[in-house]
Amino acid sequence: SKAAGRNTLRFFDPAMQAVVSARASLDNDLRIGLKQRQFQLYYQPQVDDAGNLVAAEALLRWHHPQRGMVLPTEFIPAAEESDLILALGDWVLETACAQLVTWAARPATATLCIAINVSPRQFRQPDFVGRVLSVLAASGADPCKLKVELTENLLLDDVGQTIAKMEALKTQGVGISLDDFGTGYSSLTYLKRLPICELKIDRSFVRDILTSPDDASIIKTILTLAHNLGIDAVAEGVESDAQRAFLANLGCKAFQGYLFGRPVPPAEFDLFVERAPAD
Ligand code: C2E
Ligand code: CA
Ligand code: CA
Ligand code: CA
Repeated sequence: SKAAGRNTLRFFDPAMQAVVSARASLDNDLRIGLKQRQFQLYYQPQVDDAGNLVAAEALLRWHHPQRGMVLPTEFIPAAEESDLILALGDWVLETACAQLVTWAARPATATLCIAINVSPRQFRQPDFVGRVLSVLAASGADPCKLKVELTENLLLDDVGQTIAKMEALKTQGVGISLDDFGTGYSSLTYLKRLPICELKIDRSFVRDILTSPDDASIIKTILTLAHNLGIDAVAEGVESDAQRAFLANLGCKAFQGYLFGRPVPPAEFDLFVERAPAD
């Protein structure tokens, strides 16, 4: 029919047009946001089995003048499709190193480590290791206090190169943590070749641990695996004391989640540290 013909020939679908222009404005806003310092790192506590604060994960927040606070799940995927993630990643690295230096100067925070999230695209840069080491050197931060969280999907890349980069960071004291463990492509064959110091057990397994025997046994397997490899395992997304106790019972020795604290701006994190009992 004439109507159908008109539809198939229509060049611009208004809905599609809206998606395309929303996307272009997001990219543009991200660029402006970086220039105008609209980003901030929030910090979420990680505690050991005695409840002592040992580290903080740096989580990116975007304070957009019109959109309000934007969570990383809303802009990281878009940033990852362009080189914007590289500029954002550099900013995260520099800001976390500056925070380490600030914390190193105060006894209450002097031993804290910071874990930063690094996207695959960022890690794939040929000079990634050099960039990390030069930011560490320029800031004066202790490399042993920096952890880099990577996802399993990196293992789809050239494994030889991935391992070489990890080794180069490890040699300088930088820790490598495998994030969201259990959710992605994981090759147990490669895992033992990777110079990682830590596995992070994905929140999706922790969530239903009390009611799902499957999730409980997956976590048990991951903990055994980590133990056998001689590396740490951190449970993420721990929201209740019952979950914490269950995990501790399975041998988990490090925890992160709302039970211990939400991600907060640095000033609030410092207050949290002051309130925490001294060990
Ligand atoms: P992720 O690395 O798995 O980070 C943990 C996420 O779980 C964070 O979400 C955190 O706020 C949330 N979370 C922590 N504890 C709990 C809990 O007890 N319950 C629940 N329901 N959630 C909890 P957030 O901050 O929205 O970040 C989402 C993701 O965005 C991160 O997942 C990470 O993949 C990515 N991301 C965040 N910051 C950066 C960054 O600086 N660079 C890159 N490349 N990615 C980042
Ligand atoms: Ca992470
Ligand atoms: Ca994670
Ligand atoms: Ca996650």
